[in-house]
Amino acid sequence: MAHRKPFIAGNWKMFKTVSEAVKTAEQLVKRIGETDIDVMIAPTYTALVSVSDVIKGTPVSLGAQNLFWEKEGAYTGEISPAMLVSAGCKYVIIGHSERRQYFGETDETVNKKIRAAIQSELIPVFCVGETEKERESELTFSVLDKQLQKGLEGFSSDELETLVMAYEPVWAIGTGKTATRHQAQEVHQYLREKLEESYGNILANSIRILYGGSVKPDNISELMVMDDVDGALVGGASLSSETLSKIVHFKK
Ligand code: PEP
Repeated sequence: MAHRKPFIAGNWKMFKTVSEAVKTAEQLVKRIGETDIDVMIAPTYTALVSVSDVIKGTPVSLGAQNLFWEKEGAYTGEISPAMLVSAGCKYVIIGHSERRQYFGETDETVNKKIRAAIQSELIPVFCVGETEKERESELTFSVLDKQLQKGLEGFSSDELETLVMAYEPVWAIGTGKTATRHQAQEVHQYLREKLEESYGNILANSIRILYGGSVKPDNISELMVMDDVDGALVGGASLSSETLSKIVHFKK
């Protein structure tokens, strides 16, 4: 975990109406109380503004699950970075495997989205990860390398100062299968080495790399002891304030 500030991020995906999201956020704020780690929740677009009001002035920050890179225009159904900022967002998840799998997200669109986020001072939570088939074919590292290189193509190290990365093996998302802490550490270390090659060791050592894939209150502590695991991106277990607050209060 080193010197990097731990970060627990909840991705609510396409769950919760506005009133459900508000209720969970209210409970979460109460259950978390004070904490010295960074916490984010990412509700659906429709709940952003209401949840923002609930978490204002608390240790919990707001994130969105996606954005579109243009500033404004005739792009029916899309949301701009400035709109997310005006709704209270500090973070935005980019390149989640579900967007890559179901909505045509590519390394090129991920790259444009990361740039747009940074230009609007949103902190990108940039997701990478291999499928089960790719892992079985021993393609894990080459797949991750490509996602990383293409996703961050053209950026200077200054531009990536706030970047957060998330390693989410697709085979571990929502499946109950968690990468072992050694599998997670191996990949996180690899990603950090690749970041170091491109951007130098100061940036590489400051970027937080979250693990995502069936993180629960009972496996968070063993993941967090690993040197290069700086936090978690949590899907299913973030939907309940009880389980998410337990993850936030993981035993160090
Ligand atoms: C996710 O969707 O980012 C995720 C990690 O989901 P889960 O925790 O449900 O596996």
